[in-house]
Amino acid sequence: MSRKTDIQELFRGLRAGNIAQLSRAITLTESGRPEDQQMAMALIDRVLPYSGNSVRIGITGVPGVGKSTFIDAFGMKLIEKGAKVAVLAIDPSSSVGKGSILGDKTRMERLSVHPGSFIRPSATWGHLGGLTYKTKEAIILCEAAGYEYILVETVGVGQSETEVSQLTDFFLLLMLTGAGDELQGIKRGIMEMADAVLIHKADGDNLGKAKLARTEYARALHFLPPKPSGWSPKTLIASALSGLGIDEVVALIWQFVQQQKRSGYFEQRRAEQNRYTFRKLLREGIMNEIFQDPEMRQLISRSEHAVVRQEQSPYSAVFNILRLRKR
Ligand code: GDP
Repeated sequence: MSRKTDIQELFRGLRAGNIAQLSRAITLTESGRPEDQQMAMALIDRVLPYSGNSVRIGITGVPGVGKSTFIDAFGMKLIEKGAKVAVLAIDPSSSVGKGSILGDKTRMERLSVHPGSFIRPSATWGHLGGLTYKTKEAIILCEAAGYEYILVETVGVGQSETEVSQLTDFFLLLMLTGAGDELQGIKRGIMEMADAVLIHKADGDNLGKAKLARTEYARALHFLPPKPSGWSPKTLIASALSGLGIDEVVALIWQFVQQQKRSGYFEQRRAEQNRYTFRKLLREGIMNEIFQDPEMRQLISRSEHAVVRQEQSPYSAVFNILRLRKR
C-alpha cells in the first residue's frame, strides 16, 4: 500500500474514532524510523485542524499517592457525563521495548474496559525531553479521534512535571497527608505550577487529617506569586475509594475552563505551549545537525578543550564555530 493511501486510511480511522488506528498512529509517532516519522508528521498536519477541542489535564504526584486509582474514578465520572476520555501515562522508568509499570491496564480497572476510554502508556526514549513532543503528538491524535478529556499522568518528580505543565491546560497535583519533610523541597517547585492541589485518600481515619492538610495547603498556596492567568490555585480533598470529592474536581475544572476561555488565557496558554515546543525542537534539531558533521564535532571538541584550559574565550570559540558552520 502506498504511503498516501496509508495516511488516508489512518486519517479516516482516526476521525471515525477507531481505537486500533489511533494506537497505530501513536506508535508511528514513537517510531525511530525516518519513514515512520515522515508518515506521522504528514498525519499530524492532516489532523491538526480537527484537534484542540479537548480539556488537557496533567495529573501528577509521587508513586503510591493513588494517581491511577484516582484517574479510574475521575475518568469514569467524566464518562458518566457523556465524555470520551483518553489517558496518556508517561512512565520515565520504562523505555521502548521494555516492560512498563504503567502499561499494566488493571491499574485502571473500570476505565480500561470501558469503550468510551482510551489508555496509552508511553515510554520516554530514556530521556524526559523527548516527552514533550511525543506526548503532544499523542494528544493531537486523541483529539482528532474525538476524545474530549485528555488526562496526562506522570510518575514521580523532577523535570517531567515542568514538561507536563507545558502540555496541559490544567495541572493537578495529588498529595497525601503527613508526607515527610523530605518531600517538602519537591513540593514547592511543583506546587507553583499546580492549578489545584488535591489531598488524596481522604477516607477513614485519614479524613480529618486531610481536611487539616487542605487548610495548610490553602495557606501555603496563598503565599505563592499570582499566576499570569489570574487563576488562584485551589485545594481539594478527595478519595478515589469512597468517591468523595470527585464531583468537585469535575466542577472545578469546568469552572477553570470557563474562566480561562472567557479571559482568552486558555488559547493564549496553548499558543505559548506551541511556541515552546517549536523552539525546543528547533534548538534540538540545529544542535543535532551540527553534531552530525564529524568535522564540526571535532572542532567543537577542540574548542571546548581550549575554553576549559583558558586558551580561548567561550565567546570567540562559539563565534568561530558559527562562522565555519556557515561555509
Ligand atoms: P499511583 O502509584 O500513584 O498510581 O497509586 P495507585 O493508584 O496505584 O494506588 C496506590 C495504593 O493506594 C493502592 O494500594 C491503592 O489501593 C491505594 N489507594 C488509591 N486510592 C486510594 C484512596 O482514595 N483511599 C485509600 N485509602 N487508598 C487508596
